[in-house]
Amino acid sequence: MICSSGFWRRHIRVSTICSFSALLLVLLNNTTFAADVDYVVQQARCAAKPCLHISVSFTSSGDGETLVRLPGDYAGSVGAELGVRELRAIGTASIVRAGSGDIKVAAKTGDRVTLHYALTPPETRDASSMLAGVYLPAIDTARARLLGWTAFVIPMLSPSTTRTASMTFRAADGAALTAYSNLGALGSVVEFAWHPMTIGTSVVLLGDYVSHAPSLGGGTRDSNRATLVVSGNEPARRDFKALAQDLMAVHGAIAQYWGSASTDVPLVYFGEIRDSSSSLKGSAFGAAFLTFATADRPRDGLTYLWMHELNHAWLPRKMLRQYGRRGADLYWFSEGFTEYVTHCLLEDGGFRAPGHLARELREAQKRLAAVTTPQPYLTLVQRFHSDQAAYKQVYDRGFLLAAVWDAEIRRGSAGVRSLRDALRSLVSDGAENRTVLDASTLEPVMTRAGVANFSQDVRRYVDQGNVPDLPTTLAH
Ligand SMILES: [Zn+2]
Repeated sequence: MICSSGFWRRHIRVSTICSFSALLLVLLNNTTFAADVDYVVQQARCAAKPCLHISVSFTSSGDGETLVRLPGDYAGSVGAELGVRELRAIGTASIVRAGSGDIKVAAKTGDRVTLHYALTPPETRDASSMLAGVYLPAIDTARARLLGWTAFVIPMLSPSTTRTASMTFRAADGAALTAYSNLGALGSVVEFAWHPMTIGTSVVLLGDYVSHAPSLGGGTRDSNRATLVVSGNEPARRDFKALAQDLMAVHGAIAQYWGSASTDVPLVYFGEIRDSSSSLKGSAFGAAFLTFATADRPRDGLTYLWMHELNHAWLPRKMLRQYGRRGADLYWFSEGFTEYVTHCLLEDGGFRAPGHLARELREAQKRLAAVTTPQPYLTLVQRFHSDQAAYKQVYDRGFLLAAVWDAEIRRGSAGVRSLRDALRSLVSDGAENRTVLDASTLEPVMTRAGVANFSQDVRRYVDQGNVPDLPTTLAH
């Protein structure tokens, strides 16, 4: 996601969209620091629209300049960054430099720094803001209390075992809101051990939502547990016990596929949406997942959605280290190959009838064949977040290529190895040190696994949009 410094100058200057109420200032002035890093999140109105007022305070780091990461680091979350308004430092601290997704805050070493900002829903549904509108739906409606990971600016203080953090939630009138989180106990203040990436990768905070069947799986083994959170007033009146069982089955199939237990206990939020351009939506933030469906989507739509999203915890997340980058140049892999694994597991796990994967591949093939003038991949990804057709083509191209390579690897190894082995080796071989995941990372791994013409295949099937023949055998 691109964030130029020019962009930031433009937005920091916007100061009239939203003003803080006197009430909020009184509340903030009375705030006593609960921890080393404190967030206070309050529902509010900005220019007559619902928004959030957020303050974060922390102790300035050793050299007096603290790097602060702005929201945004994952597909679509750059839109939340567009919603950050009125970012300002209070007291003696000042914002000294804006640059690609980060700012620096100057203050005397050891001084307590407070930043205020308002988070508004994106005003336009342009390419970069559309998905953020999904993650923060919330701010738009009465049920608007979902806070995604994208809401928070993160002081990049060095991790310390003794540092603590807190988050406090308030309604517009200042009343405490109960928050459910994967960080700490239920309450209006959530306290936890501080690590910048705790915020960055695994927080979903659900102010004032109801949790159903938390800690599913009875806690026998961490890898067998997941937490499903749903909002309390869904119109479809779904059977949440059944959904919880589905989620556990999905989680189990994924753990088996990737072959090593994860200590992460996934936290899956599900909420119904009323719009829109798509009846299923989801996003993965580390071990936390936001998933949405319209009321008319049946139970099997959710198993597909969860299978896809929970696989993202592995692909591409576990294939590179935490601060690592995977860019739009690799959406064909991160989305298309996730689709492939998803449909394999839906069939193998008994969620769908035999022949499901082959059917899905044939459908993808038909869709791509119907495109009379395939556009270059790089043209498509520019419209990835704004144009459903472009986004679907990116998925489909990667999905079909995964099938081609899976068949090739199986043929070359007389059925001993498959695409799964190549994907797993991306997790196990050097992922911790990998800073970027791109075609040059993938090529040696795929080639070793038995893909004969990696670059040529990527050029033909991803870049140019040629439609591959489907492998005659689609065993998997
Ligand atoms: Zn995806």
